[in-house]
Amino acid sequence: MLNTTDELLEQAGRTILFTAARPDIVMEKGQGMYLWDTDGKKYLDFIGGWAVNCLGHCPGVIADALNRQASMLINASPAFYNRPMIEFAKLLTDISCFDRVFFSSTGAEANEGAVKLARKYGAKFLGGAYEIVTAVNGFHGRTLAMMSATGKKHWEDLFKPKLPGFVHVPFNDIDAAAAAVNENTCAIMIEPVQGEGGVNLADDGYIAGLRRLCDEKGILLIFDEVQTGIGRTGKMFAYQHYGIEPDIMTLAKGIGGGFPLSAMLAKEKLNIFDPGDQGGTYTGQPLAMAVGLAVVREVLAKDLPGRAAIMGEYIIERLKELSEKYPLRNIRGRGLLIAFDLPDASGEKVVSACLDEGLILNSPRPATIRLMPPLTVMKQHVDDMLDILSRVLGKIY
Ligand SMILES: *Cc1c(COP(=O)(O)O)cnc(C)c1O
Repeated sequence: MLNTTDELLEQAGRTILFTAARPDIVMEKGQGMYLWDTDGKKYLDFIGGWAVNCLGHCPGVIADALNRQASMLINASPAFYNRPMIEFAKLLTDISCFDRVFFSSTGAEANEGAVKLARKYGAKFLGGAYEIVTAVNGFHGRTLAMMSATGKKHWEDLFKPKLPGFVHVPFNDIDAAAAAVNENTCAIMIEPVQGEGGVNLADDGYIAGLRRLCDEKGILLIFDEVQTGIGRTGKMFAYQHYGIEPDIMTLAKGIGGGFPLSAMLAKEKLNIFDPGDQGGTYTGQPLAMAVGLAVVREVLAKDLPGRAAIMGEYIIERLKELSEKYPLRNIRGRGLLIAFDLPDASGEKVVSACLDEGLILNSPRPATIRLMPPLTVMKQHVDDMLDILSRVLGKIY
């Protein structure tokens, strides 16, 4: 017999280690732009599995890829190549400026790989330089090293001692970045759009300046594209907006469409790990490889980056209309990574009221609302989202 929602919630309260305040909802099913909970209530999903489900919920291409691969080969160990791993690495290097790929399962893990690679480069070519300059309000994941890398104020005193070797500078401030680089620096690591930081776009001049600075100093430029990669910002990779090439790029979230998968891509000159330096039981895991291959092929075949650009403009246009009636400020975004500010710290209140009405939004900061729907979102979904949002804003403001 199936447990009722109340029984499930009661068990969750007793068994799940508390890490986040979750609403009293148990999600059970997803399809396209929608989720359903165990009471059968339907939700319009504008966070898309946290900027992950780029093809929407339960797309056929993922189900098919999993089924096919699961009956062929699930795991042969990281000691061997497998077919989808090689095909996927070829595809990713064909469509990007990079030559080499290391696969892992989460964004934090891909970023750890990038940091290790940069430190290896520093050890080999830069006289032992190991420091990495990162941005205030950046986000790179929740492993201990990535919490050290992340310039988030209220993480500063957590889990001490932190991993040394990270210097945090204000975002979009090229002078601050230049001032932070010294003979110990091996790399600069940033998100081209700070996602968790509230959707802050890097200026063109800032990125050009960082590339120039790295070239002058002979250090590496690392783009954390865990959130911005795979079409999210209206191009396949966000670096393509800037006319520059990073030395290393990390991908996760959208690349697996919901399956745990991440990748670190690097230029040929960074093919410098010695055996044992880097690895992982699940690197190149065949199920993940088959899914990633299918997802990226689908994103390309349907030109979802192009769609993201068009739909993003439509959402911003509609939000601007809404801002004539309600106090939405700083409407901003790139492709389908969009945010706006409220006049006060009502973010969670708006999110929770929308949830009651069957709409899922996110508040990454107290006065900010973020939208990151699947790349397959249609105008009708946007209009439905705005109907609910304006109703909710009408009650609060
Ligand atoms: C989500 C995110 C991460 C962390 O990814 P996980 O899969 O949660 O480890 C890292 N960097 C950025 C930019 C992210 O948005």
